[in-house]
Amino acid sequence: MSMPSDTDRKPALFGSGDTGFDVNRIKADFPILRQKVNGHRLVYLDSAASSQKPQAVIDALDRYYSQINANIHRGLHTLSEKATAAYENTREHSARFIGGVKPEEIIFTNGATEAINLVASSWGGQNIGEGDEIVITEMEHHANLVPWVILAQRKKAVVKRIPLTPDGQLDLTDIENIVTPRTKLVAVGHMSNVLGTINPVQRLAELAHKNGALILADGAQAAPHMPVDVKQLGVDFYTFSAHKMLGPTGVGVLWARQELLEAMPPYNTGGEMIREVSFETVTWADVPHKFEAGTPNIAGVVAFHEALSYLEAIGMDKIREHAIALTGYAIDSLLKLDRLEIQGPLDPTLRGGAISFTDADIHPHDLSTFLDSRGIAIRAGHHCAQPLMRALGKVATARASLYVYNDEADIDALVDAIKQVRSYFGV
Ligand code: PMP
Repeated sequence: MSMPSDTDRKPALFGSGDTGFDVNRIKADFPILRQKVNGHRLVYLDSAASSQKPQAVIDALDRYYSQINANIHRGLHTLSEKATAAYENTREHSARFIGGVKPEEIIFTNGATEAINLVASSWGGQNIGEGDEIVITEMEHHANLVPWVILAQRKKAVVKRIPLTPDGQLDLTDIENIVTPRTKLVAVGHMSNVLGTINPVQRLAELAHKNGALILADGAQAAPHMPVDVKQLGVDFYTFSAHKMLGPTGVGVLWARQELLEAMPPYNTGGEMIREVSFETVTWADVPHKFEAGTPNIAGVVAFHEALSYLEAIGMDKIREHAIALTGYAIDSLLKLDRLEIQGPLDPTLRGGAISFTDADIHPHDLSTFLDSRGIAIRAGHHCAQPLMRALGKVATARASLYVYNDEADIDALVDAIKQVRSYFGV
C-alpha cells in the first residue's frame, strides 16, 4: 500500500536535466522566499534555527490531509493502512539517510530535544549511578546539556566538559583525563549551532568505547548539511530534527542500535507502545513502537520523506561542497569589515555555515532588528548555549546561518546592510 507521491517529481533544480547545484533553481522551489519582508527581498539567513520548506514538502502535507488522513497501526480500513504505509516509509527512508541502518532502530520523536531527553530519561535512568561521569563539551546547545545536568543531579552523577581552543574547536589536549573508565556517556554535538565547528565524533567514539562508555552525537546541525553515516561515526545514539532539514516542525529522529533500544525501558507510556495490558501488569511492544506512545505527528513524518528525497536529489556531498564554498565567501566578506569578530574556526572545511559574529560597536539585537528592516533574517542572542557564551565572554552574538537556497547575493546583502547600520549608528 503506498500513498500517491511526489517522490518521482524532481525538484526544479533538475528541471532542465542537469545535475548541477543551481541555487536560483533551488530558490524557486521555496515559495516563502518569493515574498518581500519590510519592502525588501527576503534574505533568509536563519536556517540553523529552522529551515524553509520546498513546495514538495508543503504539497505532501496537503496531500496527506486531503487524501489519506487516518490514525496509524491500529485501523483495518484503507486510509489507516495507507497512512501506516506512508509513515513507515519515512522510517525506512530515515534509516537509509543516515547510512543504511535498520528501520526498527529509528524512533520518531517530536524533535532532537525530545530524542535526547528520551535517551537521558530511559538509558540514563537505567545506566547512570552515583559518581558516574557524563562528558559533554563547552559548546553544547542546551538540548544536549540540560538533560544531562538534570540527570546528574537526580543520580548524584558528575557532568564533565571538554573545553575549547581559542578558535572554537574542542581542545583535546587533556582528553585522556576527561574521558576515563568512570565515564558512562560522552554526549557531543556533531556540529555547533553557534560556532559551526564540526567535532571529531569518530575519535571521541573510539575513546568513549575504549573506556567502556557510550557516545551520543547530537546531529541537529550536522544531518541537514553533510552526509552522515552513523556506523562510520561509531556512535551509539544519533539525534536530529526534521524542521532544520527542509521537513515539517514537530518531527525528530533518534537512532540507536537495536540491542540498546531493546534493553532500554520505555520513555512515554500509553497507547501504541504496549503488547498486553491488565490492571496489574503491562508488557511492551517491540522496538521501535515501544518508544512511540500515543498518536505521533503522522502528517509531519509522512512529509519528512519528501524533504529527505529533496536533499538526496541535490546530493548531500554537493550540499556540503556548497556550504564550504558559501561559508568561505561569507567569512571573507565579513572579515573585510573592521571591528567585526567571527566566533569559531575560520577555515570553512572545519565547520558548517552557522556563522556567529559580534560587532564591536553595535549590540547583536540592534543589528538583527536593523537587518530585519532590510528584509534580512538573522538570529541574535545566546542561541541556547549560555555556558558557551560565558566561555566566549559574550552575552550574545549575531548569527547568520546558510542553507541550500542561499547564495553570494544573500551574503552581499548582509554585508551591505551591516555597513548601513554602522553608518546609521554613526560608527
Ligand atoms: N541541538 C542543536 C545543536 C541545535 O541547534 C538544536 C536546535 N536549535 C537542537 C539540538 C534542538 O533541536 P529542536 O529544537 O528541533 O529539538
